[in-house]
Formats: sequence, structure tokens, C-alpha cells
Amino acid sequence: MTEPDCIFCKILAGEVPCFKLYEDDRTLAFMDINPFNDGHCLIITKAHSTNLFDADPADLAAVLPAAQTVARAVEAALEPEGINLIQANGPAAGQTVFHYHVHIFPRQLNDMALLNWGHRPGDMARVEATYKKILAAMA
Ligand code: 5GP
Ligand code: ZN
Repeated sequence: MTEPDCIFCKILAGEVPCFKLYEDDRTLAFMDINPFNDGHCLIITKAHSTNLFDADPADLAAVLPAAQTVARAVEAALEPEGINLIQANGPAAGQTVFHYHVHIFPRQLNDMALLNWGHRPGDMARVEATYKKILAAMA
């Protein structure tokens, strides 16, 4: 499945170039053109889906081993001080390309990436109430 206006579908179709790192039946990995740190790259599913919510579970199952392969190479080549896997669903989560993808996001200490948040003690009554809502919605 492809979407005509989707930039990642165009990359998959070879209509837009990329620095390809890895490919298998279900996934493709390439360098991000706006890297936050050196080595920032993306794993995408070959099938178009908007994000986690509508992706095929079999495609999702292929993404993590692909991410491991690429992350190991990034780790070996660049020796960052850490690597996050980041996957955004919806604008408030920072999603800007609406084709499922995971960022391999190399980190350096004090690189000031804004995805970090501090730990504050939770209100356990609120945690429990939220837990019950999610549990009730679980298929
Ligand atoms: P999101 O913000 O949706 O989590 O991540 C989308 C990512 O795709 C961004 O980091 C952005 O730099 C990257 N990106 C957008 N357009 C292109 C493109 O044409 N080629 C490549 N290689 N990366 C892109
Ligand atoms: Zn797409």
C-alpha cells in the first residue's frame, strides 16, 4: 500500500533519493536528512500506515530487529554516548511525516534534546484511575 503524497512512499518507490542503510522484506532504513546528532536515521515500514495505530503487527514485528541491526552499526561506527529509539504518533508527539517510522536517535550527554523529562513523584490515585481506563479499553 502506498500513498501518492507521502514522502516516505516516494523514497520507497525510488522517486526521492535516500542514503539507504538497510532493507528487508518489510522495512527500509536510511539517514534522516535533518539529523539532530550524527547518525540519526530512520526505519520505516514498506507498507504505508499513518503510525502505530494502523500499522500491520507483522510489519511492526520486523521493525525492532531492523532497528537493532542499524543501531548496532551506528553504535560501532560512531560510539555515541547513548541511543534512543523514538516513534511519534500524532502532532503533539512530534510526528511530522505520517508514514510509520522509528528514529534511531544517537545521544550525547548534555545534547539538550527536548524529549527528556524530569521524574516527579506520581499521584498513585491518579495513576490507578488512568490504569483502569486503559485496561478497560484494552482489546
Ligand atoms: P517525525 O517528526 O515524523 O517523527 O520524523 C520525520 C523525520 O523524517 C524527520 O526527522 C525528518 O527530518 C525526516 N524527513 C522528512 N523528510 C525527509 C526526506 O525527504 N528524506 C529523509 N531522509 N528524511 C526526511
Ligand atoms: Zn507512505
